[in-house]
Amino acid sequence: MCIFCKIVNKEIPSNIILEDENFLSFHDINPTRKVHALVIPKAHYSSFEDAPSSIMGSMSDFIKKVTKELNITESGYRMITNIGIHGGQEVPHLHFHIIGGESVGRLVR
Ligand code: 5GP
Repeated sequence: MCIFCKIVNKEIPSNIILEDENFLSFHDINPTRKVHALVIPKAHYSSFEDAPSSIMGSMSDFIKKVTKELNITESGYRMITNIGIHGGQEVPHLHFHIIGGESVGRLVR
């Protein structure tokens, strides 16, 4: 079972921000910014490429609840999902990184 499935099943502890029937958000164990949250579907999909587009609508609604909870909607944030080897994905369970709480700089220079 993958590490994020273990977090979903509460076999591994996490610092939960928000949870509903289908999605879970928790703080990244190794934050790169003042705010660094992860948002995952509870169902296992190895990446964005493998996830059905039908979950994306409800996932984006959930993400907006998370950013509201984190109080970063006004200041803004960056949302990233890494996909596969060249994308730098380490955990093979679809997740969006939400980083903010401070300026995250330009992505492309
Ligand atoms: P990826 O490189 O796959 O896009 O990002 C995986 C992220 O998961 C990394 O930022 C890493 O710090 C985080 N992570 C890995 N294992 C754990 C864990 O057990 N708990 C939490 N909260 N985050 C984790």
